[in-house]
Amino acid sequence: MKIGWIGLGNMGIPMASNLLAADYKVAVWNRSPEKASPLLALGATLVPTVSQLVDQSDILFTMVSDDDAVKAVYSGPEGIFAAAAHGKLAIDMSTISPDTSRWIAGESKQAGLRFLDAPVSGSVGPAKEGTLVIMVGGDEADYKQAKPLLDKLGKAAIHLGPNGAGASAKLAINLLLGITVQGVAETLLFARSLGIGTDQMLNIISESAVGTPLIRGKAASILADDFPAAFALKHMAKDLRLATAAGVSTPLAESANASYRHALESGLGDLDLMAIIKHLEG
Ligand code: NAP
Repeated sequence: MKIGWIGLGNMGIPMASNLLAADYKVAVWNRSPEKASPLLALGATLVPTVSQLVDQSDILFTMVSDDDAVKAVYSGPEGIFAAAAHGKLAIDMSTISPDTSRWIAGESKQAGLRFLDAPVSGSVGPAKEGTLVIMVGGDEADYKQAKPLLDKLGKAAIHLGPNGAGASAKLAINLLLGITVQGVAETLLFARSLGIGTDQMLNIISESAVGTPLIRGKAASILADDFPAAFALKHMAKDLRLATAAGVSTPLAESANASYRHALESGLGDLDLMAIIKHLEG
C-alpha cells in the first residue's frame, strides 16, 4: 500500500516517520519542501506537486494548520480534488471545524474520493511515540481500512460516527486542554504572588491528584521561561475560536477563548501554548 502525506509541521514529521518505521512506502508533499529532509533520510520520497502525490498514492493523509490550509490542499487549484483522486481514501488529521470537515467530505464524495476526519489528541511527544488518541468521523468501512495505519500513529483510534464527529470530539478535548493549561498558569502566578516558588509549586501539583503528564511535561519550559512550540499557542487560540463558533459558551470556555486570543494578539502565537503564563503575568 502506498501512502501520500501532506503537511510536514511539528506533528506531520513524527507521524509520517512512524509510517516509514513500520515499513510503509511514503511519498510526501509540503508547501515548504525543505522541511521534508528528515523524512527523506528515513526513505520517504518528496514529490513536487499534490497531483503527483495523489497519482502515486492509495491513501492520503493531510496534517496542516487550519481550515484555510485544509481547503487549500483539498480544493485549491492545485489541490487533491483537481487531481485523479477517484477511488482513493483521504484522512485529514488537522484540527478544523466540524463544518469544514463535513464540507470537505461532501466535496470528496463528488470527486469519488472517500474521506475521514481523524484529528488527534496529544502533542509532539505522543506523535513521536505513536501514542496519539485519534478521533474518527466517516464511514465504518473506511475506518476499518484505515485502522491498521492509524494504529501505527496512535494508541487509540476511536470511530465516533459520520464525518464531522472526529472534528467535534477534538474541539471538546482541546477545550479541556486550553482550560487546564490556563489553570496551571494562574495557579503558579497566584502561588508566586504569595511567595511560593514556581519549582516548589510545580512539585506540589505534580504530587497532587491534579498532577498530569501534561503539567510534568511543561515544567522545564516554565522554569526556564523558554517556550519553544510543541503545540503552538496560535493553534490553541484557533481551536478555542472554533469551539466557540461550534456553540460552546460556558464561563471557563469564554474566558480561555479571550485569554488565548489576547495572547495571540500580543505576539505570543508562535510560542508553545504554555506561554499563556507570559500573557497572564502581564
Ligand atoms: P505546524 O507545525 O504549524 O505545521 C503546519 C503545517 O501546515 C505545515 O506543513 C505548513 O506548511 C502547512 N500549511 C499551513 N498552511 C498551508 C497552506 N495554506 N497550504 C498548504 N500547507 C499549509 O502545525 P502542527 O503543530 O504540525 O499542527 C498541525 C495540525 O495538528 C493543526 O491543525 C494543529 O491544531 C493540530 N494539532 C497539533 C498538535 C501539536 O501539539 N502541535 C497536537 C494536536 C493537534 P509549511 O511548512 O509550508 O508552513
